[in-house]
Amino acid sequence: DEREQTLNQILVEMDGFEPTEQLIVMAATNRPDVLDPALVRPGRFDRRVSLDLPDVEGRKAILKIHAKGKPFSEKVDWQKVAKRTVGFSGADLENMLNEAAILAARLNKKHIDMPDLEEAATKVKLGPEKRRLQSDEDRKMTAFHEGGHALVSWKMPHMDPVHRISIVGRGMSLGHTMMEPVDRVHETKTHLLEQIIVMLGGRAAEELVFKEMTTGASDDIEKATHVARAMVEELGMSDLGPINLNPQPRTPYEQTSVSPEMAAKIDAEVNRIMEKCYKEAVKVLTGMRDVLDTLAAELLKKETIESDDFIKLIGPKAALAKA
Ligand code: ZN
Repeated sequence: DEREQTLNQILVEMDGFEPTEQLIVMAATNRPDVLDPALVRPGRFDRRVSLDLPDVEGRKAILKIHAKGKPFSEKVDWQKVAKRTVGFSGADLENMLNEAAILAARLNKKHIDMPDLEEAATKVKLGPEKRRLQSDEDRKMTAFHEGGHALVSWKMPHMDPVHRISIVGRGMSLGHTMMEPVDRVHETKTHLLEQIIVMLGGRAAEELVFKEMTTGASDDIEKATHVARAMVEELGMSDLGPINLNPQPRTPYEQTSVSPEMAAKIDAEVNRIMEKCYKEAVKVLTGMRDVLDTLAAELLKKETIESDDFIKLIGPKAALAKA
């Protein structure tokens, strides 16, 4: 109801403008897909400018704006910061700089340094570091779980290099594995499948090492299923062919066009992708079982392993294949 009223009011207000008046009306929305057609007719909001998440140059420019007036150390490498913040919106970047300033102030530092930015970036994306009490058994399970993600990712030819692995909990999660992401214009099927395999690498390690499953993998499984479903329903990347099969109407005006039979086929296809990817994750880890043990032991000792130490321990990733 609220939407109808807002729409009508906007249309009424716009009718009040004479065509000769030199006036440009701009509006912003996060949901262009649900705009009423009446609103985007010629003469109304008839130009559309899409603003995507900023790329590396955009992020650098945004960082410069928000860094003004804050005492950053001269050692801060903005190019590096911009490179590592793939997927950050302008608001995320601003938030990150503020967090970094707070962290530096808490430590009574005169300048904001790279480690402050590093911690702030992780905090913005994953929530603050939480040192909670964990049993030895829990820590061990987390170490193998995160080690599983990292090793599978290391082995997948199109995945970005491992940036950090940690068994220190953040937000709701008990640990995390971060890749150093690369700006991508579009995703390939191969890369999407590799992402699913990596997301299932945590659970695969649990089952392989402990013959057990934990609730810690629920988030991974949810995200992986989401990717698999999108591949089948929206991206036409399955044996069902290049058709949009999204059975969920996105707006109240849209009707679902998928028959119950097709819905069943979609479910079967999603299942098939997930099972295949899980098997692949188990296969990779089975072949690297001794490396997994080494990595988990190191994680239990150090709690967090940065990319340099990871390379020292496991070896460099083979050259990144072009996706
Ligand atoms: Zn996980």
